Amino acid sequence: MNSAKYSTPDAEGRFGRYGGKFVPETLIPALDELEKTYQEAKADESFQHELDTMMADYVGRPTPLYFAERLSEHLNGPSIYLKREDLCHTGAHKINNSIGQILLAKRMGKKRIIAETGAGQHGVATATAAARFGMECVVYMGEVDMARQAVNVKRMEMLGAEVRPVKAGQRTLKEAVSEAIRDWVSRTSDTHYILGSALGPHPFPMIVRDFQSRIGTEARKQIIEKTDRLPTALVACVGGGSNAIGLFHAFIKDESVRLIGVEAGGIGPALGEHAARFDGGREGVLQGTRTFVLQDDNGQIALTHSVSAGLDYAAVGPEHALLRELGRSEYYRASDQEALDAFVMMNKLEGILPALESSHAVAWMIANAKQFSKDDIVIVNLSGRGDKDMEQVLAKL
Ligand SMILES: *Cc1c(COP(=O)(O)O)cnc(C)c1O
Repeated sequence: MNSAKYSTPDAEGRFGRYGGKFVPETLIPALDELEKTYQEAKADESFQHELDTMMADYVGRPTPLYFAERLSEHLNGPSIYLKREDLCHTGAHKINNSIGQILLAKRMGKKRIIAETGAGQHGVATATAAARFGMECVVYMGEVDMARQAVNVKRMEMLGAEVRPVKAGQRTLKEAVSEAIRDWVSRTSDTHYILGSALGPHPFPMIVRDFQSRIGTEARKQIIEKTDRLPTALVACVGGGSNAIGLFHAFIKDESVRLIGVEAGGIGPALGEHAARFDGGREGVLQGTRTFVLQDDNGQIALTHSVSAGLDYAAVGPEHALLRELGRSEYYRASDQEALDAFVMMNKLEGILPALESSHAVAWMIANAKQFSKDDIVIVNLSGRGDKDMEQVLAKL
């Protein structure tokens, strides 16, 4: 296969048929400014040095690649390694992107930061970055998510951010994104919107991917150091798709390595019961990008459900849509119950409390260990830690 067709968006920000820039005309200058700033920063050694220093000394990178010996033995399948994004400052991979983008905001001279959040992790990561760089921060969050993730709301407020409840529609992530976009349209001169996943209009899917691709760059080096070879497969949960593309990106050209994304299977296969965009969704445009979207026959965006707020979104990052179309990546689902079971098993066997989002990736590994042999190596991305989910899990068990 010709690997040039993978991954790099074209000048219009398209990944094949997917991606693009479907936004009101008033946002185009801000997106163009962001893209220009990003390209300049990428080539600027002092920017890269500041980013590297923040990643090392503030975020805690590189994160370990940990051999999950007891889990591997228990499943009697491949050797399973966990990429420990749960050990990042603030408890998830989201901080990689928030720090990267706040440095871009600083470069653009913007003093006010806005963000949307679902699980609250991106809100916490962005409020943290804003505190660290002394910027004003407003986080939009659906009321339902605020109730599900009450502790994270308090954390953001403690960090000096204002959390604005979003009361429209399903009152979750999708509506929070709409509110953030609305805010940005009205104040692009002094405000940068830190979008939290590999989603939205170009250049966000590219920028977020690049900031998250440290995950895979580190993991590739670490697995070669530890085992002297490439893994058989990578497994990551897919909400918007940033932790997954972050892990996958450095391996895309290694065509022997399977790239496996796990979506939220929720409580059943019917529209409204899950958030499995590749298994029930179809092509459409949502919030600035063309991709796979869960929608009804009339193109109305469908309701979604997942036990984990971070996977509960009707669209998926456009680069995943392209990689899947090219046969490079594969997507499956794990149900709420399977994720809860995986959460419990990780605690008991490894002494690790995974986020419910990450538990979906572990759940796929548990259910599919048998398709691998003892010689196989699988890296599972532990995108975040589960302290935030304890209350919810206890209520379900
Ligand atoms: C937000 C979040 C996700 C889902 O977002 P992606 O962009 O798909 O990575 C997954 N895991 C954790 C811990 C999260 O906080």
